[in-house]
Amino acid sequence: MKLLLIEDDPMIGESVEVGLRQAGFTVDWVRDGRAAELALETGHYGLALLDLGLPRKDGMTVLKGLRQRQDSLPVIVITARDAVADRVAGLDAGADDYLVKPFDLDELLARVRALSRRQAGRTENILRVGALSLNPTTREVSLAGQPVHLSSRELSLLQALMHKPGAVLSRFELEEQLYGWDEEISSNAIEVHLHNLRRKLGPEIIRNVRGVGYKVVAPDALHP
Ligand code: CA
Repeated sequence: MKLLLIEDDPMIGESVEVGLRQAGFTVDWVRDGRAAELALETGHYGLALLDLGLPRKDGMTVLKGLRQRQDSLPVIVITARDAVADRVAGLDAGADDYLVKPFDLDELLARVRALSRRQAGRTENILRVGALSLNPTTREVSLAGQPVHLSSRELSLLQALMHKPGAVLSRFELEEQLYGWDEEISSNAIEVHLHNLRRKLGPEIIRNVRGVGYKVVAPDALHP
C-alpha cells in the first residue's frame, strides 16, 4: 500500500518514512500543506498521515479540503497539539484516527493496518485468498500451510493484489503501489516481480486479465 506522509519536521518525517518502508509500505513524503494538496489531488494513496502544524497551508485546512472534495481517503492526524479540543476538531473535520507526538512507531503501524483493514471491509488482519495467506504484520506468506519466502517487492505486489480479492489492478496501479516518487523503476519491473511470484506460488495464481491488468485467483479454485 502506498501512503502519503505529510510532515514538515525532518527528524520525525525521516523516522516515520524509514519505519513505514521497513514495514513494507511505499511512501511519498511532502513537507508543506500546498504540496500535500497537490499530491492528494493527483496521486493514488491508500492512506495519509497528516501533521496539523504545516507551512504554507495548515493541516486542518488540507483535511477539510479533502473531505469537501468527497474524498474518503483514510487520514490519521499526527500532531503535537494534545489538547482535547484539537483532537475533537480533527476528528470532526474528517480524520479517521489521531496520534499525539511523540508516538511509538509500532503503534502508528498498528493503526495504519487497522484503518486499511477497515477500508477494505475486512475484520481480521491476515489477508486470505483460498489457501494463500499473507500476514501484513509479520510479512509472512503461506500457501496451503507451507511458508513461501518472498522478496520485499514481491510481497508488496502480492499484498496489493490480495488487498481487495477479485479486484483487477493495472500495471500502472501496481507500479504506483510499489514505488515512491524518488525511486527508479525499470519499464518491466512489475513483470519481473510477477514472474518471480508465479515461480514461487505456481503459474496460475496471478491471472492476467487481457488489456486490463492482474488479479489473484484462489489456489483451491484451480485444483479442486
Ligand atoms: Ca509540524
